[in-house]
Amino acid sequence: MAHHLRLATMLQGLCPICGEGRIFASRWRMNPRCPVCNMKFERGPGYFTGAMYFSYAIGIPIIAAGTGLVWWLTRWPLHWAVLLVWVAFLPLVPWVFRLSRTIFIHFDRYFDPDDPPLTPPVQAR
Ligand SMILES: [Zn+2]
Repeated sequence: MAHHLRLATMLQGLCPICGEGRIFASRWRMNPRCPVCNMKFERGPGYFTGAMYFSYAIGIPIIAAGTGLVWWLTRWPLHWAVLLVWVAFLPLVPWVFRLSRTIFIHFDRYFDPDDPPLTPPVQAR
């Protein structure tokens, strides 16, 4: 199947290859492989470090906009506005966690679709 960045598939948390299997089994737990096409989601140790960039890209604008809104409405000192918005943001952390990993998997599979071979190639003599 061709690799396309499909926004609807990303937002629904579905596999980037088949577009049907769920990436997450529960709020915090990922399926190790796609339940439909068996694609391995985590390519190797530390794979999801790249998802942190998407996590920042999602979370920071929300917190910044919320802080600006609270500050504009209340004129509280900035540190109190940041603290209030940060606490109010905590319930969104599972959503950001899932969405950032899902977006990362989709982008990674789009730009680097092939898995490395499972065993090293045999040396010819
Ligand atoms: Zn799949």
